[in-house]
Amino acid sequence: MKIREWIAQSDFLQEGLAMHGLMARLYPIPRSITGEGYRETLGLLAEHIPLEVHQVPSGTQVLDWRVPDEWNIRDAYIKDASGRRVVDLRQSSLHVVSYSTPVHRCMSLEELRPHLHSLPDDPDWIPYRTAYYEKTWGFCMAHRVLEEMKEGQYEVLIDSTLEAGHLTYGECLLPGSSAQEVLISTHACHPAMCNDNLSGVVVAAWLARALAGVERRFTYRFVFIPATIGAITWLARNEREATRIRHGLVLACLGDGGGFNYKRTRQGDAEIDQAAAHVLRQRPGEHAMLDFSPYGYDERQYGSPGFNLPIGSLTRTPNGRFPEYHTSADDLDFVRPEALGESLALILDLLEVLEGNRRYLNLNPKGEPQLGRRGLYRSIGGADIGITPLALLWVLNQSDGGMSLLDIAQRAGIPFAVIRLAAEALEAHDLLRALDG
Ligand code: ZN
Repeated sequence: MKIREWIAQSDFLQEGLAMHGLMARLYPIPRSITGEGYRETLGLLAEHIPLEVHQVPSGTQVLDWRVPDEWNIRDAYIKDASGRRVVDLRQSSLHVVSYSTPVHRCMSLEELRPHLHSLPDDPDWIPYRTAYYEKTWGFCMAHRVLEEMKEGQYEVLIDSTLEAGHLTYGECLLPGSSAQEVLISTHACHPAMCNDNLSGVVVAAWLARALAGVERRFTYRFVFIPATIGAITWLARNEREATRIRHGLVLACLGDGGGFNYKRTRQGDAEIDQAAAHVLRQRPGEHAMLDFSPYGYDERQYGSPGFNLPIGSLTRTPNGRFPEYHTSADDLDFVRPEALGESLALILDLLEVLEGNRRYLNLNPKGEPQLGRRGLYRSIGGADIGITPLALLWVLNQSDGGMSLLDIAQRAGIPFAVIRLAAEALEAHDLLRALDG
């Protein structure tokens, strides 16, 4: 089966509902950049896709960084004088600043206050805070709850450990007929938030499921990594593999109701940048093409000058541009199944272009070949086939070995899918020969 056939036979709303179901299972797991929660997350993904789990010991040098100690949390609360848990990790894993050092003591509200984080402008939402590389502790809570706390003594517990262990990441490899690779990367380290980034995790997993069942020219490598340190760790351990990457995509924030935003690669004019522009133009609805910047997600590691990989980034509303970003309001209701399904469909459209974007040589380049004699005009009479005479003429005219099918589609203003079908028909009649693998 080809990708386009998989797309044609799929109900993307059903796929979206299934992705949302997996998201609901992943949501309560207390995750951070290391620890049991990360391994448990990969364990759930492994129920759906073939996943190799890599464990890298704490202290390992990775490029300019070191793998940090592993952080695990069992319980955390703030109890008032009556013994009631005012803040309780069991209610939300966002309540503790990620990588908090352990603490257990009684303290006054005044002493406690510098360790409490809230959002006065959104008093019902819990913020998301991390302290990966500082030795500190803290709680995140709804501002409304904080305002109700009276002066007095509180029992504070963070039952965490921060000790030598591992950084864990998951990798799913789907070999293709070529050793050239497409890298799909997503961060999977955030606790209890759905758009950023369980949406990226479940869409990547469903993409892997879809691609596992289709013909593949490229080899696909999916990495489920903790943000920043995970990408740096993967690059440090895979310098050789990285040289085989022909295209790549960082996935995040794919479940909100906003239009698509594609952020170009560092090169700015890579084949995937052209392909993304083409497929986005073909779709209804708002979208934007953004220029590369060394901020955002792991595209900045893959696009660091020593690697300079052609890896773009796809989101719906980008990080930091929706109010729910990095708060408890980025929850299961904020992410819509139909948005997840549409994101999956778009990425498959993009990969279908990359898979089929080849250069051809016209084997009858002197004058136009007589298409009627070969039945090519007749075979395209049926509208269901989708090939137009104009597409045949464009492919024949431009196939001098220099132009790819995507170049031709853009120059002709014809959808790539139509141009590709025309090329396949011409190849079947020995009028074209593919030049690259
Ligand atoms: Zn984030």
